[in-house]
Amino acid sequence: MTTDVTIIGAGASGLMCAIEAGKRGRNVVVLDHAARAGAKILASGGGRCNFTNLRIGPSDYLSENPHFCKSALARFTPGDFTALLKKHGITYHEKEQGRLFCRRSSQLVVEMLERECAASGVEVRLNSRILNIAKKDRFLITTERDELNAGSLVVATGGLSFRSLGATGLGYRTASQFGLRVTPLNPALVPFIFHAEDAAFFKGLSGASLVASLRCNKSRFRGEILFTHQGLSGPAILQISSYWEKGDEIIVDLLPDTDILDLFKLEMRSKVEMQTLLSRHLPKRFSKAFCYRYAVSRPLHDYTQKELRELANLLHGWRLKPSETAGYEKAEVTRGGVDTRELSSKTMESTKVPGLYFVGELVDVTGQLGGYNLHWAWASGYAAGQHV
Ligand SMILES: Cc1cc2nc3c(=O)[nH]c(=O)nc-3n(C[C@H](O)[C@H](O)[C@H](O)COP(=O)(O)OP(=O)(O)OC[C@H]3O[C@@H](n4cnc5c(N)ncnc54)[C@H](O)[C@@H]3O)c2cc1C
Repeated sequence: MTTDVTIIGAGASGLMCAIEAGKRGRNVVVLDHAARAGAKILASGGGRCNFTNLRIGPSDYLSENPHFCKSALARFTPGDFTALLKKHGITYHEKEQGRLFCRRSSQLVVEMLERECAASGVEVRLNSRILNIAKKDRFLITTERDELNAGSLVVATGGLSFRSLGATGLGYRTASQFGLRVTPLNPALVPFIFHAEDAAFFKGLSGASLVASLRCNKSRFRGEILFTHQGLSGPAILQISSYWEKGDEIIVDLLPDTDILDLFKLEMRSKVEMQTLLSRHLPKRFSKAFCYRYAVSRPLHDYTQKELRELANLLHGWRLKPSETAGYEKAEVTRGGVDTRELSSKTMESTKVPGLYFVGELVDVTGQLGGYNLHWAWASGYAAGQHV
């Protein structure tokens, strides 16, 4: 079969690219090995799809080439996506920090994209296993069923996380096959796991949460951290994980809004127990475990000034060294990807191989938590869709 455009991957970026190319009258076929389109969209935002963020800028993205995302983001805005939702009668609302979620279900977003594909004459072929990709004058994509002969090939196969939602490494292999560099890949927006010697401490705290301020290298995030039976999770941990390299320390200010040394000084002559005082500002279970580990709880007047200073420093600068992340099976995204220095920022086309495009999470543009990754998928898919 001959097509103008073949897109591999019926996820967020592939479907957006297909819709835009179809609107331009291009003959488009989308191939996906999964049995349904948009599996990650369905799972996103806890089933409510945090589809974009009202405040999006290049600084919300990590990349070896931080300017690359500017052009696509400028040409497809959060307002463009909400206009599409409105056209389909899909209601949404803003949660904290500009995050936009569907009021009902992410299923509606997938159905909307499928309807738009149908309206633009796009054919979506699910259960299509790709056996080979080659290029002569045009691209030849061999599936189990047939061979497609395409003028343009868009690779939109996403990152490596959540194999259960269809992730494979095909996109990275295709980039390498055509001589494009792939930057180092790592799980990102992912919980941390700690060394065996810390396991009992974290296990005992599983389920407890608190608001902290975190630092890793030069990055800082403030938000909820959640203790799990293996280590730490929660929004602030997921955010900082994208900046973490193996061996790095995370520095946690457990009391970002309180000067605990001032409070210690006020209570220095009192009989109040350290654990009781800390429980006024931190979860009870955490205060107990923290005192057990770092400062056997006793009345405040029993501590020397030096001990109180050291404890205050620890509470405002708790140094943790994760042993690893929870890996691709728990990561929301993959950090790194197809080197953007080998792609046009306007069209996502390879500068080396005319007609070959890479979009979405597969590209070395990784968003922070809060709707930025789906927005990048829409914006990069839209950019390629204008050109393929
Ligand atoms: C649990 C979870 C929750 C998330 N929540 C959010 C959120 O709320 N907000 C947000 O912004 N981001 C969220 N993300 C991230 C976001 O879903 C992705 O960044 C985004 O979907 C990437 O779009 P994409 O088109 O690049 O890839 P995907 O949407 O992953 O699509 C890739 C498609 O390619 C197909 N494919 C892969 N390999 C092959 C192959 N070999 N042959 C054929 N087809 C193949 C897959 O089946 C899939 O359909 C979440 C991710 C996860 C895992």
